[in-house]
Amino acid sequence: MKRIILHWTGGGYYPTAVEKEYYHFLVDAEGRVYKGKFRPEDNLVCKPHSYAAHTGGGNTGSIGIALCGMQGYKDCRVVGKYPITLAQFEKAMKLAAYIACKYKLVVDRTTVMTHYEFGIKHPATSSYGKPDITFIPAYPWVSKNEVGDFIRSKIRWYKTKMKEV
Ligand SMILES: [Zn+2]
Repeated sequence: MKRIILHWTGGGYYPTAVEKEYYHFLVDAEGRVYKGKFRPEDNLVCKPHSYAAHTGGGNTGSIGIALCGMQGYKDCRVVGKYPITLAQFEKAMKLAAYIACKYKLVVDRTTVMTHYEFGIKHPATSSYGKPDITFIPAYPWVSKNEVGDFIRSKIRWYKTKMKEV
């Protein structure tokens, strides 16, 4: 596996069966982790209907982690009824750290990114213009273009905690 791509579902606080088809791991509002229908390894070679299609133009080798919520999100002032919670965000960061360790990924901009960042780098794909993740309700001062670096810092920190255990 070559990278982890972080998303929000754009739905409610708990994963639906359909959402589970699109991501390898989903985290609900309380920080519970769910496995999706497909395994990360199913994305090594993307055959129709047999991989998690989470990132248009970038699914091959990509592990998709989604935070459940953000339905109705427009911008930092209109976040909808399901803003990502602190417990949910932190658990997703911890999960990403665990997965980065498991797949021996050094956390940098090429191995851990948001769907939004992937779209910026690949403007010809359907990922361009995706809003996830451009705003973290629990850390509202982190600006749109700092979210990726903030997330990578968090994941690195959780990784160091894991090595101590
Ligand atoms: Zn996404």
